[in-house]
Amino acid sequence: MSALPATAASVAPWIAEQTRALLAQRGHAWLLAGPSGLGQYELALALVRAWLCERATAQGACGACGSCHAIEVRAHADLCVLMPETVMLALNWPLSEKAQDELDNKKRKPSKEIRVEAMRDAVEFSQRTSARGRGKAVLVFPAERMNVYTANALLKTLEEPAGDVKFVLATDAAHQLLPTIRSRCLGHTMVWPQHDEALHWLQQGQGVSATQALVLLRAAGGRPNDALRMLPVCDSWRQLPQAVRWGDVSVFKNWMPAQVVDALHKICHDQLAVKAGSVPRFFASSDLVAGGTWASLTAWAKALSASMRTVEHPFNPGLLQEALVSQAQIALNSKP
Ligand SMILES: [Zn+2]
Repeated sequence: MSALPATAASVAPWIAEQTRALLAQRGHAWLLAGPSGLGQYELALALVRAWLCERATAQGACGACGSCHAIEVRAHADLCVLMPETVMLALNWPLSEKAQDELDNKKRKPSKEIRVEAMRDAVEFSQRTSARGRGKAVLVFPAERMNVYTANALLKTLEEPAGDVKFVLATDAAHQLLPTIRSRCLGHTMVWPQHDEALHWLQQGQGVSATQALVLLRAAGGRPNDALRMLPVCDSWRQLPQAVRWGDVSVFKNWMPAQVVDALHKICHDQLAVKAGSVPRFFASSDLVAGGTWASLTAWAKALSASMRTVEHPFNPGLLQEALVSQAQIALNSKP
């Protein structure tokens, strides 16, 4: 039980505030939407914890009862978590026995979409009676990873909820959801935390140093959960523009292609911002490089947007990185 207070304490104040606001309203299906990194998953989890808690208050779950503990150890009979397997594994949720078996025997790779089989289990779950007698909850995250079949199966369940089941869908791409799914849910737009509040949370709640917190929050464009995810690249972040300018591919060692494109996008954005006379968003002005013409930087931005679409499936990640860096090098060194 020792892990419980730590978890409760690490819930960010702006998530706690939104939890209170949502609990004060009636709704059996919520759709939490907004840009990534604002804590959609954390808020969804806080909601289901409160719904199922034996001693919930207007503030949320108690953090200490049998139900809260069961969620803590990922074994609550009345909670169904619907996620792509890659996300389940990353967030420490157990897969179904069958799915785990298939992965253990290398029959297939973990899915990046919410699988039809998992949705079938969820539909069956929603028709069962509650094991603990406090109703049931289904958490779907990221909801945009449903394909048209799984989305339609969920839609049926949302339209005719059998018994006492509540839903929370969390997404950073609400526009990719079926309109019928969106219209079946109460919508909530994620609230951006104040800059100082987010800095304080990164330092006090997550044990990040003051200097790192500043770099990370800037690197993540003010999104605290994204900032935390960027901790492993914090030390090299400020050197990126210079390194890329010199064509140094090694700064991206062990980065995923999508992370590289994201970082280059941010460099490009800030170089353009400074050129236009405004303030950079992701880097400190002193980290940026002096060069780059307007034309070459805008051409680079366009090329990066195009790579964004193919980056999930590069045929050769190493070659792709080299190509991306050399593209950046040309733009940053261009002279009028
Ligand atoms: Zn509780």
